Formats: sequence, C-alpha cells, structure tokens
Amino acid sequence: MFRFRDRETASRIVGELRKMGLNLFLMHVCGTHQDTLVRYGLDRLLEPCGIKIRQGPGCPVCVTTQREIEEALLLARKGKVVATFGDMVGVPGESGSLAGLRGEGAEVRVVYSIRDAVGLAEKTKKEVVFLAIGFETTAPSTAVTLLRRPPPNFSILCCHRYIPPAIKALLEMGETKIQGLIEPGHVSTVIGTKPYEEIAEKYGIPQVVAGFEPLDLLMGVYLLARMIQKGEVGVKNEYTRSVRPEGNVKALRVMEEVFEPFDLDWRGFPVIPKSGMALKEEFEEYDARKRYEDELKELEGREFKPHPSCRCDRVLRGLLDPPDCPLFGKVCTPRSPVGPCMVSSEGSCAIEYKYGRGRLKPEGETGGGEGG
Ligand code: SF4
Ligand code: SF4
Repeated sequence: MFRFRDRETASRIVGELRKMGLNLFLMHVCGTHQDTLVRYGLDRLLEPCGIKIRQGPGCPVCVTTQREIEEALLLARKGKVVATFGDMVGVPGESGSLAGLRGEGAEVRVVYSIRDAVGLAEKTKKEVVFLAIGFETTAPSTAVTLLRRPPPNFSILCCHRYIPPAIKALLEMGETKIQGLIEPGHVSTVIGTKPYEEIAEKYGIPQVVAGFEPLDLLMGVYLLARMIQKGEVGVKNEYTRSVRPEGNVKALRVMEEVFEPFDLDWRGFPVIPKSGMALKEEFEEYDARKRYEDELKELEGREFKPHPSCRCDRVLRGLLDPPDCPLFGKVCTPRSPVGPCMVSSEGSCAIEYKYGRGRLKPEGETGGGEGG
C-alpha cells in the first residue's frame, strides 16, 4: 500500500496540477473517495490548484429514503427481527430510528453481512427481515444468498440501487455544473467501465474510474484535468488493478438473475428511472414488501419528510459542503445526528466532522458555491 501513499509522488502530481492553471469543479460518487479526500487533506491540497471536488449521491445509507426507513421501523414494531448494517440503525426516520426502537425492546440486530442475517434466521423461529442497502458492490452477495434459498422465515426489505441511473439523473437535472466525474472503484469492479462510456457519449462528460488510495485519487484527478483541458470526452481507468472494461461478469449475471430495475426515488432526488433493484417474481417469497403487504399498508399514501433544516438533500446533489448546513456541528453531530449524512461512515457530514476540522462557517457567512 505504501507506494500508493508516497508523499513525493503526491507533491509531483500536485505540482503538475498547479502549473495547469485550472478552475475545475468535479464530483465523485463514493463515500470511500470522500474519506480519502478529507482524511489525507487532498481537498486542501487541490484547492490552491483550482480544483474543487464534491461528493454526490455516493453513500448507500444516505440515499435510502425516509419511507424505506419507516418500512423497517414499522416491521420492527410489528415484532419482526430487523437485521442490518450498523450505520443504518442510527439513521433517523420521521418516527425515530432503529436504534431507538431497540432501546424500547424491539429486536434490531446489527450484522456485518447478509450471511449473518441468514444465520440469525437459522437459529430462530421468528421472522427475520434484512434491510438490504447498497449499490452494485453489495447487491451481488444479496443475489447469491437468495439463489441459495435461505430459510422460509427470512426475507429482505430491498433498498439496493444502481449507480449509473443516478449519475444520469444528476447530469440531467443540471443544477451542479460539474466538468468531470470520478467514478467509484468498488462499483466499477462489478459493472466495469462500459456504462460510463454510454454516459460520456450522451452527456459529453469526461470521467475517470479511480481507486481509493491517496495516489489513486490524485492520479484520477490529474487524468481528468488533462482530459478537460484537451476537451476530451470519454472514460479513463486509473484503477486497472481491479477494474476491467467488462466488469465482474459473474457478479453481473447473478444480479440479473435475481433483480430487475424499477423506478425509485433516492433521498434528495425525484424518482430516478430504472434505478432500483426489485426482486424478480421467482424470489417473491423473500420479498418483505410482498410478505408483509398488509402490515405495510399503514404507510400507504403517507409522505415522510426529514427535519425541516436538514440539508442532506443538497449535500447529496453536490450543491453544498457539509459546513454550509446550518445544523452542522451544532445541532447535528454524530452523537445526535439529524440526517443520514452525519450517521453513515460514508456520509460527507460524518467524514468532515470525524477529521476534526469542523470548518464551521462564521455567523452570517453563507455557504459557497451552490450549483458549483
Ligand atoms: S459501496 Fe464501495 S463504491 Fe459504493 S460508495 Fe461505498 S465504498 Fe464507494
Ligand atoms: S449537518 Fe446534519 S442535517 Fe445538515 S446536511 Fe449534514 S447530516 Fe444533514
């Protein structure tokens, strides 16, 4: 790993970028990229080079909607064992959080993988519902698990999403004036680089797939900056040690076997066509929404709204930096999060807060750069 963190190489790349006299606004869509960017202070190194990078809808926990959280809360209240990843448990819905319900005696279990959740179902007669979140990175393991036919008391509340439709939606909305995109390494390991080529062609935007080490990201930015300067549109792959153009064919095949795309809304976004993964009919028995249809009817027709001052929607569309939210670090902290971006370890607000820079804006100063 050392060779991907070498300071000297990093300064050489930054030096080259400085010489280019840039004024760029870029976006990435991956929580781990945000972590690398802030943890290693790359954002601060890049600022004087005229490069600003924001995170878009790149955290699976953050883009899960209030409705999906309310579904999980309702099922937990109705006596199901709800199992999910640690970060999901703390996300506030309108009527509380899974962590809060656990405090009131509901059975909410934190698991590290869907396999752990199946393990829980094997050990109990109770109904176990796995709140399945994540992009193309985690969806294959959900698909494989269902193909192995888990026990009948196991089901999933499927909140998996496809990344490329969200990127298209963002570009189509046109609020963020981004000049280039840094595509996520893990997702790309599964989907390959082809889906981005289609995006480049349709929207005329240069993209680079980058890995997660500091030098990966800096090289990714450098490649992107060069493309932008030359007016090139297309896709470059910095993360060749993991990402092939065709992706992981086996993982794509199992996903295709189990899921089909459907129109779904994301937090901060309107309904994004074909961005949700729905279970195919053959797997209906594992679909918590079908199995508990009657119980979930309670939520029908209801609208769920986040805290009125919460700006997670804008953070997720790349319109704001976390400190521009009036609640950041004051009302909203990891101990008392108001929005998911402060809960999830891949959320922009939690990352900004964690690395201790706070960067609270002085009173009266408005957040810079809305709309890029
Ligand atoms: S799942 Fe992987 S690629 Fe997606 S946001 Fe998280 S770290 Fe990035
Ligand atoms: S500071 Fe809190 S409320 Fe504001 S955008 Fe971040 S998570 Fe949402």
